[in-house]
Amino acid sequence: MASPLRIGLGYDIHRLVPGRKLILGGVEIPADLGLDGHSDADVLTHALADAILGALALPDIGHFFPNTDPHCLGLDSQEILRRAVAEAKARGYRIGNVDIAVLAEKPRLSPHISKMKERLAQTLGIAVEDIGLKATTNEGCDTIGAGKAIAAHAVALLARIE
Ligand SMILES: [Zn+2]
Repeated sequence: MASPLRIGLGYDIHRLVPGRKLILGGVEIPADLGLDGHSDADVLTHALADAILGALALPDIGHFFPNTDPHCLGLDSQEILRRAVAEAKARGYRIGNVDIAVLAEKPRLSPHISKMKERLAQTLGIAVEDIGLKATTNEGCDTIGAGKAIAAHAVALLARIE
């Protein structure tokens, strides 16, 4: 890997369904609906892990944690994120900074942003100041706007360990 800096992009979307917890950024958020998925379906953390793996030109998290693997059932997605960080370290890179946008019509996520940042900082092993995280609605447009799904976009910058 030639570049001292590497950038990656991640995107994910999960459907909202009854009878599931809503976990975002490793934090359980009180809500009527939760995200459907094989793991805890933490869409924000999945997008972020994919951004880190993307920066390393590796395949997405489905390659490392296949949804056919029974061990991944109900998996804490912070474990997925830890794996992405480990893959970076193994190649001589550390996480520089990350930036995430979550698209959710409801619930309102702003009261939970600081807690999510703290949790992600812990897993990534970086300072809270190196994590950008904002939530927006989809202005009522399409599936996300109808409150049927939550999506997340993330970018991650990796820096070579000196
Ligand atoms: Zn996902």
